[in-house]
Amino acid sequence: MTFKALVTAKTAEGVSTTLTDRELADIGEGDVTVAVEYSTVNYKDGLALSGGRIMQSMPMIGGIDLAGTVEASDNPAFKAGDKVILNGWGLSQTHNGGYAQKARVPGDWLIPLPRKFSTREAMAVGTAGYTAMLCVMALEHNGLTPARGDVLVTGANGGVGSIAISLLSQLGYRVIASTGRAAETDYLKSLGAAEIIDRATLSAPGKPIAGEKWAGAVDSVGSHTLANVLAQTKYRGVVAACGLAQGLDLPGSVAPFILRNVTLAGIDSVNTPREVRLEAWARLARDLDPGKLKSTVTEIGLADVPGVAAKILKGEVRGRTVVNVNA
Ligand code: NDP
Repeated sequence: MTFKALVTAKTAEGVSTTLTDRELADIGEGDVTVAVEYSTVNYKDGLALSGGRIMQSMPMIGGIDLAGTVEASDNPAFKAGDKVILNGWGLSQTHNGGYAQKARVPGDWLIPLPRKFSTREAMAVGTAGYTAMLCVMALEHNGLTPARGDVLVTGANGGVGSIAISLLSQLGYRVIASTGRAAETDYLKSLGAAEIIDRATLSAPGKPIAGEKWAGAVDSVGSHTLANVLAQTKYRGVVAACGLAQGLDLPGSVAPFILRNVTLAGIDSVNTPREVRLEAWARLARDLDPGKLKSTVTEIGLADVPGVAAKILKGEVRGRTVVNVNA
């Protein structure tokens, strides 16, 4: 029996992604077969489908996230009918991903769908939202509380940014949103941002140390933006760095660390240990306002993925994109 899959392959011009029919025997190793219901489009999916160095071999089915129902399992932790989610690990890197109606994956990569979420809502969260939660947990782990002062979120309209704003405001923080899209002010305020700043104030080369503005920050942008965020962070503040939308470089100095005792916490969602994933998803179930999550979501079908993947690299996608693989 065949099913639909979106396959990215090398061509003479570069790479191309096409909707094809696949058979279960073709989709790779694993001890659990999942009937996929939803996937998502993250920035990393944009990179993968553009031929950026994400997929370690091709042809490959992209999609770093999936949620669905176990169809068959040789893994004692899962049985047919279980609802599951998968974020990261080898998906779309070394293993076929979520842009297909079926996936065959190692059960160790799966976690049970928290009861609070449907598979669609879990993918509205997706890697971007689960990464936002990892950032919030890192801020807390390093001592941040709402009483310490404002928290900055960069890349505010993006997936990580939108969900970080929702989570932080729900937890009682006063959130400052940095964006290049002032036209989305109402959206950002509806998520819980108290103040909006123009990202241009952070994106150019700045001083090694500057006036103290925020007690904490979630940065999905990197480069000069992260260097300036660090330079403007208050004494004993903490910054969680997860992204590179502006660039992979970090052209700053050690001044914020040695003069202001600032902590820079790195965030990786791909190889996060299982127990931390379970904690992050339990916290998402507790702390994410479902109404705000809903307002971030756009739903598309498999055939629409290449177009949205190209747009996300240009910073033109707002919030989260959910892929209904059966649409
Ligand atoms: P999105 O594209 O949804 O969001 C990125 C946002 O960054 C954009 O919406 C835009 O926000 C802003 N932005 C885009 N280009 C620039 C630029 N040149 N300069 C400054 N700001 C810019 O992506 P995601 O939210 O999915 O991911 C965000 C980042 O986090 C990516 O770099 C991604 O690779 C990384 N990431 C890392 C993870 C990890 O495990 N470490 C996991 C998930 C994501 P606005 O229009 O509001 O300015």
